[in-house]
Amino acid sequence: MRLSCAVIKPLRPVFQTAVSLIYPPRCLGCGTLVDSDFGLCSACWRDTPFIGGTVCESCGIPLMGAPDGHRIDCDHCLDHPRPWQNGRAALLYSDQSRSLILGLKHGDRQDVVGPAARWMARAVRPILREGALIVPVPLHWTRLLRRRYNQAALLARGLAAQTGLEHCPDLLHRHRRTRKLEEASAEERFAALASAIRVHPGRARRIAGRAVLLVDDVMTSGATLSACAIACREAGAAVVDVVTLARVALDD
Ligand SMILES: [Zn+2]
Ligand SMILES: [Zn+2]
Repeated sequence: MRLSCAVIKPLRPVFQTAVSLIYPPRCLGCGTLVDSDFGLCSACWRDTPFIGGTVCESCGIPLMGAPDGHRIDCDHCLDHPRPWQNGRAALLYSDQSRSLILGLKHGDRQDVVGPAARWMARAVRPILREGALIVPVPLHWTRLLRRRYNQAALLARGLAAQTGLEHCPDLLHRHRRTRKLEEASAEERFAALASAIRVHPGRARRIAGRAVLLVDDVMTSGATLSACAIACREAGAAVVDVVTLARVALDD
């Protein structure tokens, strides 16, 4: 089954515009009244772990020290080189950001999408390539039917609007369903996902020789993004970069 735009567009913008005229925008964290473009009140902004300063060029995790003009990668990415070029994330996954991210993933917090796309646009700006195609990490269609929307596709569309770049919501698809991978080891995730994700045959020409920017909500081990990056490279993408709303800090 092909993932169509129609399946991932339940935002009802007319209804939402009407609601925002009646109800002024509220902080995504605590619900107090805020400026609509800001997304968070000053207290929640301060408590939200936005990533800044020196980061790993591959996975976006914050690193100690000042940039010295050379590429900096974290130990994990040096030991396990990523199949993509550059990566960034807007937030660290933490107690403060978890409720926003879980709300976006499992609940009805689509109000998070607009501000999240702005935060991601800011994080990805240093690595953005002219003419890149923005591509969301896909959900299997059975999971898409149950959740009604793919949060990565919503973020990709928001990021496209923020950056002015094209996006292609159905470039990648999961032709095999993978079991829930939250508890799996990194090796199990890589094995399960490696052959599950493909470039849609009818879309391959859109990425031939072109830069691709992959979008997902959270990066943990990076297994899903790796499977997507490999699929894009095998289909002829010139270079693949990644951006996520949040990065889980691994202890290893
Ligand atoms: Zn707040
Ligand atoms: Zn890294």
